[in-house]
Amino acid sequence: MFKRDLFNADHEAFRDTVRRFIDQEIAPHHERWEHEGLVPRELWLKAGAAGLLCCTVPEAYGGAGADYLFDVVVFEEMARSGFTGPGFMIHCDLVATYIASFGSEAQKRLWLPRMVRGQAIGSLGMTEPHAGSDLKAIRTKAVRDGDDYVISGQKVFISNGQLCDVIVLATKTDSAAGAKGVTLFLVDTSLPGFRRGKNLQKVGMKAQDTSELFFDDLRVPASAMLGEEGRGFELMMTKLAQERLAQAIRSATVAETVIDWTVDYTAGRKAFGKTIGDFQNTQFKLAELKAEATVARVFTDRCIASFMNGELDAVDAAIAKMQLSNLHCKVVDECLQLFGGWGYMWEYPIARAYADARVVKIAGGSIEVMKHIIGREMFARYRPRDTRLTDINPA
Ligand SMILES: Cc1cc2nc3c(=O)[nH]c(=O)nc-3n(C[C@H](O)[C@H](O)[C@H](O)COP(=O)(O)OP(=O)(O)OC[C@H]3O[C@@H](n4cnc5c(N)ncnc54)[C@H](O)[C@@H]3O)c2cc1C
Repeated sequence: MFKRDLFNADHEAFRDTVRRFIDQEIAPHHERWEHEGLVPRELWLKAGAAGLLCCTVPEAYGGAGADYLFDVVVFEEMARSGFTGPGFMIHCDLVATYIASFGSEAQKRLWLPRMVRGQAIGSLGMTEPHAGSDLKAIRTKAVRDGDDYVISGQKVFISNGQLCDVIVLATKTDSAAGAKGVTLFLVDTSLPGFRRGKNLQKVGMKAQDTSELFFDDLRVPASAMLGEEGRGFELMMTKLAQERLAQAIRSATVAETVIDWTVDYTAGRKAFGKTIGDFQNTQFKLAELKAEATVARVFTDRCIASFMNGELDAVDAAIAKMQLSNLHCKVVDECLQLFGGWGYMWEYPIARAYADARVVKIAGGSIEVMKHIIGREMFARYRPRDTRLTDINPA
């Protein structure tokens, strides 16, 4: 088997720390959090104190200034554990990254140290009830009023929505300008005019809060703008490859983990005088899944390396997100089958993994949107190569 060569001894030592944290601080409580629909703030504070949050934030803003692989270790170990409650990925990989990349000095100083410590929880507010894939169709408005902007509108499906202290919020500052009318703001949720709606009931990821959010004439100073007016869409596009890579990393790890769980289970479970693992069907099925997960892992690791060199483009990230999301869902489905009825019982991690998986084909850019990105590039680059195809009717 290929050995992964991305990580050094420091990353692996950190991996041990993350695993210990998950065993001690998450595993004993996660089932209760599933019933409560969210994880407590104390968990975020403990994760911050243990150095698990926003590892890449520079030391000047309270972070470790570590390389991206430290964040990857956190995402992988969370995925391996099967505990999907803590929304660390959105907080670290998206919100902190947006602020670190596009924030003013004052914005970085205000939010990043608190985000590293888990004292401020971040969420990303893009989707609205009528606009998800087509983000430029959002309607939440930000209207200039003197030195302020007044924000009104609604978001939906926002991860960390019940807990968040700061939102990277997509608004329209010019409703007639399409994508060029989109502007981002950093919204402090303690401001008057902010309201949290329902914590939405989901098929899976039951311990992670996902909410409606409302903005009723919420007034922010112009200094709360992230980047420049009208450039929000452009900024979001520059971060999509990173978001999709993180999701592929999670899916690659879940696929490997679920295959391991299934080997363990089927090696012990008996039927017709043999173990389930003795049946050729089981071995062939798991062999196929293992082969697909191994190939997918190599591509994912290549994307991580490429991202760290500043070379990961939108198309490769879309390929990673699409392939890994599909594989993730296929693996949990086919492995659950090998668990029989026990696989359908919530007390078995495979049942949770099955329920948690489905969203990966939808959120963070759906499978169809990924195909659109890949296909568009193929045809944009198309040049006639063979005159026999283009000069069919020269007459
Ligand atoms: C659990 C969860 C957590 C989420 N967290 C966040 C969050 O933190 N922040 C946030 O802003 N959003 C979040 N979302 C929203 C998520 O990003 C959207 O659900 C997603 O982008 C799809 O948008 P939509 O649901 O409006 O579906 P629609 O855009 O209405 O799409 C419906 C269907 O049509 C397909 N479709 C759309 N356009 C095309 C096209 N051009 N060609 C072919 N097919 C197309 C889609 O692929 C999909 O299958 C979350 C969603 C979920 C379920």
